[in-house]
Amino acid sequence: MFDVAIIGCGITGAATAFMLSKYKLNLVVLEKENDIALGATRANSAIIHAGYDPKPGTMMARLNVRGCELAETLSKDLDVSYIKNGSLVLAFSEKEMETVKELYDRGVKNGVPGQKILSKEEVLEMEPHVSSAVIGALYAPSAGIINPWEYALAFAETAVLNGCEIRLNSGVTGIEKADFGYRLHTEEGYVDAKFVVNSAGVDSAAVHEMVAPKAFTIKPSRGDYYLMDKAEGNKAKCVLFQCPSEAGKGVLVSPTVHGNLIVGPNAVSCTDAHRVNTTQEGLAFVKQMAAKSVPDINYRNAIRNFAGMRANTDRDDFIIGMAQDQFLDLAGIKSPGLTSAPAIGEEAVKILSENGLTLIPKENPVTTRKTLRFKHLSGEEKARLVKENPLYGRVICRCETITEGEIVQAIHSPVPPVSIDGVKRRAGSGMGRCQGGFCGPRVLEILARETGKPPLSIMKDKEGSYILTEEIKKEAKS
Ligand SMILES: Cc1cc2nc3c(=O)[nH]c(=O)nc-3n(C[C@H](O)[C@H](O)[C@H](O)COP(=O)(O)OP(=O)(O)OC[C@H]3O[C@@H](n4cnc5c(N)ncnc54)[C@H](O)[C@@H]3O)c2cc1C
Repeated sequence: MFDVAIIGCGITGAATAFMLSKYKLNLVVLEKENDIALGATRANSAIIHAGYDPKPGTMMARLNVRGCELAETLSKDLDVSYIKNGSLVLAFSEKEMETVKELYDRGVKNGVPGQKILSKEEVLEMEPHVSSAVIGALYAPSAGIINPWEYALAFAETAVLNGCEIRLNSGVTGIEKADFGYRLHTEEGYVDAKFVVNSAGVDSAAVHEMVAPKAFTIKPSRGDYYLMDKAEGNKAKCVLFQCPSEAGKGVLVSPTVHGNLIVGPNAVSCTDAHRVNTTQEGLAFVKQMAAKSVPDINYRNAIRNFAGMRANTDRDDFIIGMAQDQFLDLAGIKSPGLTSAPAIGEEAVKILSENGLTLIPKENPVTTRKTLRFKHLSGEEKARLVKENPLYGRVICRCETITEGEIVQAIHSPVPPVSIDGVKRRAGSGMGRCQGGFCGPRVLEILARETGKPPLSIMKDKEGSYILTEEIKKEAKS
């Protein structure tokens, strides 16, 4: 019997597990995929929004600003790649300058610190690659960039160190009301819990309807991106937004925490929330729109395209609240959900406690985490480490200088990866220009060796994404 079962381990479920794991509770997170953070959390713009966008007075406005504030301390405590580089909303016409002023006023109402309206000259001094057609901008210094899956992993791993269980390949297929709370049927048997949290992203309406009448509709919206090589990384220092309009929020250009450049997204309504693939038209639109902000991006330096699916809804806010007794919805967590996640986690703790969950703080919960990054060590530290463990002396990913020692460490981490992309998300191998073309086969070998699994069973990513199909040469018997 669990005190709380959390359905879905994206950033919302992971942050909620982290916040709850500081209390004496028996916790479980049920995730349908073979790894955490494979939904919207892995494919988004990776921006920590300052909070001038949401309507004042909404939950979204409050949780966005709080989440932005928390990102700074949590990223330090949990060793997550984060840079507070600020954001600009660029205006290219007097009408857009009006929008900039409206956003500024909203930001003031929402409590966004340090905002300024900049002149054309100030913008171009800060951002020399921005088009000279710019006439001004809203500057928000509290905005930043983060590695989204590292953030989710940091929450999940710390929750596990505090005793939370994470069950992968455990999609919830049905929920029964019981005297004690709920019985959750999963692909791997059933789980009993007194309280349930629904953080199932684009599936959160379906999960809600397992226990309560239909209350909201998910309206999935896809966004396509270009990820550029580090050669383009200097084209933006801040996050460069365009003015939001009836046509959407506009396309952004931003550096990433790894020094690359990200360009996107568009917004395309979709009927199938699970069909997350880029389209030629989508990417052409992104390129065309981005040229308005930064005209000299060289798309020959693109190293990857990807798409993400927004859990947009028919409401103008996050859907956070009790759907039934002992059943909490954290549903329709659209943008700025990545930013808001830790604040949503805090909110979940508060609501659950107001609704009967007994919270007794642990004396010494784990609240910090440290990840070893070989390339960031001094020469002396590297030499010492290689002497202690020669695996740190073998570079597997040459683009990103990731050693075998780091890959082995990732494979034995508190939420262990089962795929090559799972190792990539933890150790950083395959993140560079070749996108795993060279190191992929070596990571596969290491993963098979360390987990004792046959190489044929190792996947690229989600369940079913096999890389090797059969052996073509048998080893000669001596
Ligand atoms: C294109 C795009 C750009 C964005 N940009 C930003 C940004 O820059 N900044 C920002 O703050 N936000 C941004 N967002 C929003 C942000 O990514 C999301 O709000 C956030 O990732 C949502 O997290 P989540 O955990 O609620 O959902 P998800 O990450 O989708 O996680 C839901 C999880 O539930 C699991 N699940 C579903 N059904 C079941 C089931 N029945 N049983 C068990 N598990 C289940 C899924 O497998 C998944 O792992 C963007 C989103 C998109 C798509």
